[in-house]
This record gives sequence, structure tokens and C-alpha cells, in this order.
Amino acid sequence: MNDKPGLSTRSVHSGEIHDPQGSPHTPLYNTTTFAFGSTAELLDVVEGRRSGNLYTRYGLNPTIRSLEEKLASIEDTQAALAFSSGMAAEAALFLTHGREGVACIGDAYGGTLELLESQLPLLGIPTHFVLGNEWDRLESMLVNRQARLVFFETPTNPVLEVIDIERVAALAHAHGARVAVDNTFASPVNQQPLTLGADLVVHSATKYLGGHSDVTAGALMGSKELIDPVFAWRKNLGQTIAAETAFLLARSLRTLVVRVERQNATAMAVAEAMQRHPRVARVLYPGLPGFPGHALAGRQMRGFGGIVTLDLKGAGADATRFVDRLRLFKIAPSLGGVESLVTQPVTTTHHGLTAAERARRGITNTMIRLSIGLEDVQDLITDLREALASAIQPAYRDGSATTPINLPVAALVRLRLLMPRA
Ligand SMILES: *Cc1c(COP(=O)(O)O)cnc(C)c1O
Repeated sequence: MNDKPGLSTRSVHSGEIHDPQGSPHTPLYNTTTFAFGSTAELLDVVEGRRSGNLYTRYGLNPTIRSLEEKLASIEDTQAALAFSSGMAAEAALFLTHGREGVACIGDAYGGTLELLESQLPLLGIPTHFVLGNEWDRLESMLVNRQARLVFFETPTNPVLEVIDIERVAALAHAHGARVAVDNTFASPVNQQPLTLGADLVVHSATKYLGGHSDVTAGALMGSKELIDPVFAWRKNLGQTIAAETAFLLARSLRTLVVRVERQNATAMAVAEAMQRHPRVARVLYPGLPGFPGHALAGRQMRGFGGIVTLDLKGAGADATRFVDRLRLFKIAPSLGGVESLVTQPVTTTHHGLTAAERARRGITNTMIRLSIGLEDVQDLITDLREALASAIQPAYRDGSATTPINLPVAALVRLRLLMPRA
């Protein structure tokens, strides 16, 4: 066997404990506390001479510790902590490592932005926001020590902007700052930020890591030196993952690689089919050669992910009609599960923003985000084609008109639609 097993092998075997009853994987220890043979044995654990099980809120539970070893292994690092949600993990990250200032690059998850914009400043924690191309602004924040933690997602939601992890890490480290990446969208199968120079990785395990839309959880990974100080925050804020959830999440991680590889392949086929569709103005997908972040994604990602964003022709109401007419894609504001989901960011994730803020982030009213599941690719493409055909008026085919003004043109276009396509 190799010195270091591959990611699939690690996601199956890492962290699994030897079970005296013969279970091939770590059983669920659904208990809150652990008993000791003597006070001396208890003190060994309490005083840190021996790592062991103690109390579940501390995370010192075999099911949770086993999960955390697996989580660290799949991000190729030393340590991990599991949380009750992605937001719990982000909050613990910022409270532990962001107190001297956080710089957030590009767009981020709505809850993360709210925490950074409105809540952490109430505690006196300075937070700053730069766009993905504002390298000079970022550098001056680092030079002036306004931020000691640089945080970003890549690819971002929903426009899938790809941010250069190595470049951010080099810049931050040159000024003694640290870098944390929210790796939720890519998953460790497609991208390992720690091997590209980032210091910490955070996940909403609710998405690809859980993968079945039945687990709410979070994870934080990094060196032991950076993860150890997070332990006390998680413990005393009561953010630890439940043992039952940890068991389910470990179950999910064993199939992570096969799920994500299949989602990558299906997303690529969906992106290609939609790129050729006359009622689609633009397809945003890092795997498409014409996509602005394609070359960078090719360097820092091993797969392009399961999220495809479409910008449709027509108006926002047409896009809403399209969403409503999909049958396989369910309308829901999440991602990464076995079932394909669809959202129109203007009505969900980015609903609370002003039109100007949305424009700044490149989000249009006609934008649709697809989370590709594990259904047959042809069924998904058929669902998309049928909804496009019935929801978007043929007159929009040229992308110029917002209302069908010219009847003869509309009639002509309709005629062309009826003709068999070459
Ligand atoms: C969903 C999500 C979060 C928040 O995770 P929860 O598990 O819902 O708390 C954070 N970051 C990204 C990128 C997400 O998609």
C-alpha cells in the first residue's frame, strides 16, 4: 500500500475506531458522559495527559472524535472540529482567529456576511470587504494591520467567481496574516485550500459533506496549532455537533468522492447543453473554457463542482416562471444533496440586497442557480429544456427585446422554433 492512501480510501477508513463487537465502522455513542475506572483515570483526561472521552458537549465522544479524524484527513491536515452548523463553525473561526480584524474577499454566504457586517462589529471586531479584483485595497488593509484574517469562498455563490488561493495566501503571509477559505462549494474532492497555502478551511457540512439534505453540521480544519484554541470557544458557546449527527455525517463522508465526481460530470454535461440553448443568455460554470475563471479553476481545482448558474433571456418574471415549471429540480435554497435543486438568487439567497448591491456582485434578475444531484443527466437536461420551452417566450430568443413588440418578428421566430434543429 502507498505511504499515504488516496482520498477515497481515507474518506472510507480514516478515523474509524476498532470496535470490540466487530462493527466495520465507528458505532453511534449516543451518550452525554463517559465513566472512568478510577479518579486517576478521569484526571488523566481532564488534565490532558491522555486524550479520551469525557463529555459530549466538549466533543469528547468517540463518534465525534472519529468523525473529526476523518474530516482532518479529507482536507489533508492535522486537526478538525465538528460543529452543529456551518454558521457555528464560521462564528468560532472568527471569534478565535478574527478578533484583530477580518477582510472578506468577494461575495460570501448571506449568514456569513450578516455575521461579519452587523454582528461582529458589535463586539468591537473590525470587518472589511473587498471585491475579488481589489488586490491593492486588500494589501493596504494588511499593511495597515486592519485585518489579520483574510476570509473568502471560492467558487463564490452564485456567480462562481474563482479566487486565487495561492495568491491570497502569499499576500497575507507576507504581512503576517492568516487565510481561511470556506470550501463548501468545491468540497475537498475538488479543492484542498490547505495544500495551496491557506491556514484554515471551514465547511457547511450541511451541503456536499452531508450530501443528502438530512444533516445540519459544520466543520473547521487546519493545523493542530490553529485548531486547538477553537476548542474552548466551541465548548463554552455550546456549538458541538450532536453525536447522532456526527454518525450520519461520517456515513455520508464515506461516499463523498463518488457523489461529487458524479455531480461534477453531470454538471459539466448540463452546462454544455445549456450553453447551446437559444433561450439561455449565459452559462456560468468554471468547467467551460469560455468562463473567466476557467484557467485558474483548472490550476487550483481537481473538478469543477456541481453548481451551474444560468442567466436566461427575457425578464425576471420569465426566470421565475422557468423555475416554477421545472419538475425534477426542486425549489429550495440549499445545495450539494442527491436531489437537484434550483433557486433564483434574487428571490432567495440575495433577496435582501438592494438592486445596486446585486449589480455590484453581478447578480441579475434572470439568474438561476442549479445544484446538480445524482439523477440521470438526460432526465435533468430534458427537465431544463421543457421548462425553458414553456416558460420563456420565443421573441426573447435574440436577447434584445424585453417585451414582444414586433408581431411579425415574433411569428418568424416561432416558426424557426418549430423547424427541426440541425
Ligand atoms: C450553507 C452555507 C453556509 C452556512 O451553513 P449552515 O450549515 O447552513 O449553517 C456557509 N457557507 C456556505 C458557502 C454555505 O453554502
